[in-house]
Amino acid sequence: MMTLRTALLFFVILALFIFIETADAIAFQAKISPQDIYQGDAFVIKVSGTKSSEAPVAIMDGKQFVFSKCGEDCFIAIGAVDLETKPGRKKIKLEMRNQEQYLGLVVKRAMFPSISLTLPEEKVSPGAEDMERIEKENEKLKELWGKETEPMWKGDFIRPVKNEISTVFGTKRIFNKKKTSIHRGMDFRAKEGEEIKASNQGRVVLAEELFFGGNTVILDHGSGIYTVYMHLSALNVKNGDIVPKADVIGLAGSTGRASGPHLHFGIKVLGINANPVSLFGLKL
Ligand SMILES: [Zn+2]
Repeated sequence: MMTLRTALLFFVILALFIFIETADAIAFQAKISPQDIYQGDAFVIKVSGTKSSEAPVAIMDGKQFVFSKCGEDCFIAIGAVDLETKPGRKKIKLEMRNQEQYLGLVVKRAMFPSISLTLPEEKVSPGAEDMERIEKENEKLKELWGKETEPMWKGDFIRPVKNEISTVFGTKRIFNKKKTSIHRGMDFRAKEGEEIKASNQGRVVLAEELFFGGNTVILDHGSGIYTVYMHLSALNVKNGDIVPKADVIGLAGSTGRASGPHLHFGIKVLGINANPVSLFGLKL
């Protein structure tokens, strides 16, 4: 028969075991910020207290986020929702050390403005030869976005130029009263020749003239994050260069489909065109 002392010892060990198991189960914290976003916005997932060198796995709409280290016991990933995402609640499944957690995200409806623009006809309705070039360029860009390289970005993303915004992200543009397109980036006012800075550390993966973008620079920041700078008058970098944050990558201009000098700035987050303003606001 079990003595009282043995029974007591047995319960103490059992309680201790349950305590350790529970402590282990709640040992890491996962947080999304902001938790309320608008269509087209970027957000950040931070997982801390992981006690593991292995990155967590987080999935939303079948797409996996790319985590990078943000300290001894911390992982960080940037995500985004497309501007056509249906408003409502979204779930992110997070897996870490064989445990599952669900994180909630609320997507609110964004109000996107509409504007009319007049441009040279050949930039609105390109001829067959130009169309061939446009298609080739689109293919090249599509290939670029498909790559997910090692994280190179460090800390917050900064504005490439400290000027006013002239056309916001998501604006519906009507060209010469007939063609429409959604503005999947943002425009900053800029004088011809004004210095344009790298929003974060990255590698130059494109530095050339495109039909619509004119002189364009694309930086790969790793983790599936890219920044795009268009209509430049001069390029200061070449393909393959590693560019530190805030380095001058080119000068503002009006090359490509532009009605005057300005900077078109775009971001890609895991293949999604996101609102750059939301990226600037993230504490990384
Ligand atoms: Zn633009």
